[in-house]
Amino acid sequence: MKRVDLIAIGREILRGQTLDTNSHWLTKRITAMGGEVERMVVLDDDVQAIAREIGVSFRDGAKVIITTGGLGPTFDDKTLAGIAEATGCPLSLHPGALEFVTRRYREFFEQGFVESPEITPAREKMAHLPQGVEPMDNPVGAAPAVFLKTPRGVIFALPGVPKEMKAIFEAEAFPHLKDILGAEVYLEEVVKTGMGDESVLGELIERVMKRVPGVYLKSKPTHFGKDVELEVIITAASSSEEEVHRRVKEAEGLLLDLVKAHPTRTGG
Ligand code: AMP
Ligand code: MG
Repeated sequence: MKRVDLIAIGREILRGQTLDTNSHWLTKRITAMGGEVERMVVLDDDVQAIAREIGVSFRDGAKVIITTGGLGPTFDDKTLAGIAEATGCPLSLHPGALEFVTRRYREFFEQGFVESPEITPAREKMAHLPQGVEPMDNPVGAAPAVFLKTPRGVIFALPGVPKEMKAIFEAEAFPHLKDILGAEVYLEEVVKTGMGDESVLGELIERVMKRVPGVYLKSKPTHFGKDVELEVIITAASSSEEEVHRRVKEAEGLLLDLVKAHPTRTGG
């Protein structure tokens, strides 16, 4: 199994203002795809601390490091500076990332979310990336996320806002991780539930994940409507092919039983 370490960055977590739900979500996700999370740390917005802990993770054998937080426009967003320090890849203005940030602020301006589309130094800061990175688009926010290959392993730097972090993980980081963690048997199955309300379906999904260890279920939201039949993707990973099939089938059976027994079920 390939080792994955998670580093949550932000003073607000250490002050008790924010609960580190990002690491919790990521570790479930990584486990379900066959990675092994061996270390989760929470750090202050501090360049030296970030650089040091990245060094420790690689030294101890992590092949993948995922950081969350500290990619934003404010003075305390220091994750990329920490990564630059740890890897010897200095920060420089990335033209593609600048284009992305510019486009996002223009969109936010047109939607009336910000007062000006101008690229201020604070906004431009988000496009200063360690040299050699591949920026990853952020479909929810303005800060590009980062994928960096180093001789010791790879680093994903994802934003702190959970909604942004999850969207980038699914769209951009997941495909890379599938390649990197690949050796395990990984099974993905799409199930039509016949339910239209994700807020109700979510409770059932949670119950299935509690009862069947090692599976991950993700509902695919579409829109509200009488004819909506939400799909759920069930995934599991294990070194044994038989085991992943058993887990996915067990989760599928249990989910469909819970749906059948639920009074607000619609459709199918
Ligand atoms: P940042 O990207 O560091 O500026 O974080 C933006 C916001 O995301 C923070 O103010 C928190 O509300 C939230 N956040 C940051 N890190 C985490 C985390 N590990 N778990 C949950 N929420 C977080
Ligand atoms: Mg922060």
